[in-house]
Amino acid sequence: MRSGSETASTPTSTVSDPHLSMIRQVYPRTPNWCEECLRLGTEWVHLRLCLTCGHVGCCDSSPLRHARAHAHSAGHPIVRSFEPGESWRWCYVDEQYV
Ligand SMILES: [Zn+2]
Ligand SMILES: [Zn+2]
Ligand SMILES: [Zn+2]
Repeated sequence: MRSGSETASTPTSTVSDPHLSMIRQVYPRTPNWCEECLRLGTEWVHLRLCLTCGHVGCCDSSPLRHARAHAHSAGHPIVRSFEPGESWRWCYVDEQYV
């Protein structure tokens, strides 16, 4: 049982996604860049933080979409926006804000 919060400021929804149970206390592995883009020397648009392991990857607007690739390859579907001032979470399996 969890009680809802009444202080939603960003596009959040009230869905109870089953993947929310995979969220851990994580620390960003690469605090300022996409881990794969850093290695490849490629560019990204926005960053997403994996809430299961702390992987930082680039968003779907980026050419290589490493956050999505990580979600599927590692089986970590829940990410949080890693952009300043944004706190929404996204599930790559259900394709929805969670
Ligand atoms: Zn989900
Ligand atoms: Zn990337
Ligand atoms: Zn992960």
